[in-house]
Amino acid sequence: MDPVAARLAARERGSQVEYRVTCGCGAAVPVRAGDAGSVRRCACGRDVEVPSLHELRESAGQEALPPFLRVQTKLAAGLLPGIRGCAECGREPAATARVHVECERARVEDRLNNRAALAGCLLVGCFGWLIALPTLVMLRFRGPTRQFGNDVVVVVPVPVCDACRPVLTDPAALGRALRTVPDYADLLDRYPEARLELLPGT
Ligand SMILES: [Zn+2]
Ligand SMILES: [Zn+2]
Repeated sequence: MDPVAARLAARERGSQVEYRVTCGCGAAVPVRAGDAGSVRRCACGRDVEVPSLHELRESAGQEALPPFLRVQTKLAAGLLPGIRGCAECGREPAATARVHVECERARVEDRLNNRAALAGCLLVGCFGWLIALPTLVMLRFRGPTRQFGNDVVVVVPVPVCDACRPVLTDPAALGRALRTVPDYADLLDRYPEARLELLPGT
């Protein structure tokens, strides 16, 4: 192939960037820039609206985010849960339940523990227990604390029908239901120890 034709072909391929649109069934439907604004049919038979190119590019940027940030960004944009039927039985219509997802908690440590131990050795050595003990007790209670990491906690909406709600008070069942939403599944894969709780009310 001559260089000009090769360059044209490369440019052509560049315009064929693939995006993904999520169908109501949860499947990712591959679309191209040229499909923007049109309707594609998912393998499940549903018609999936392909958003504008601007929105496609924006959502592609979201897909590149780590799971927790992606869930937060999509929640703020009103894009989640992205499924309509009940997350447990799939029947429509379902009410929206809220689930508290505690991925990680910040660890708080007493910063003075090491310093107090060192001071303790010195004080006991120099002055004996009578002076060292009250000083150490004072240090212990006045110690500032130091935080490691951040709270990684989010409340996510999930469609759940009234019949299935009692089933989902079990965290294991709740985890399985959450996983029907691909972004929540990614979040739980990233934080397998996440604590899940179905919040009361809707
Ligand atoms: Zn589908
Ligand atoms: Zn249900």
